[in-house]
Amino acid sequence: MTPMPDRTGEPRPGRDEPVTDLDTPLPPIGPTRAELRNIAIHACHLCDDHGYRPGHATPCDHQDHTGPAKRGIAAIRAQMGWDRPEKAPTDTTQPQP
Ligand SMILES: [Zn+2]
Repeated sequence: MTPMPDRTGEPRPGRDEPVTDLDTPLPPIGPTRAELRNIAIHACHLCDDHGYRPGHATPCDHQDHTGPAKRGIAAIRAQMGWDRPEKAPTDTTQPQP
């Protein structure tokens, strides 16, 4: 392949050289996706060595959701009035004596 000339008609050294080695893979620039997954699993205290939390069938997202979940249920209880004993829901799953 003939180098492309610039506007002046002269080839630009180093820029207009044809690329001839397309089969050589480029060196990796960082960890692979699998390596990043293993690093996250190793750093997480919530999941096992396979990336699953005990008792869960979906992969761990390595985020502790207990704080937001507790704040959410507290907000629901306050909104519904369940934080007051007279408004607390009764258990209807048990047979009445
Ligand atoms: Zn995890």
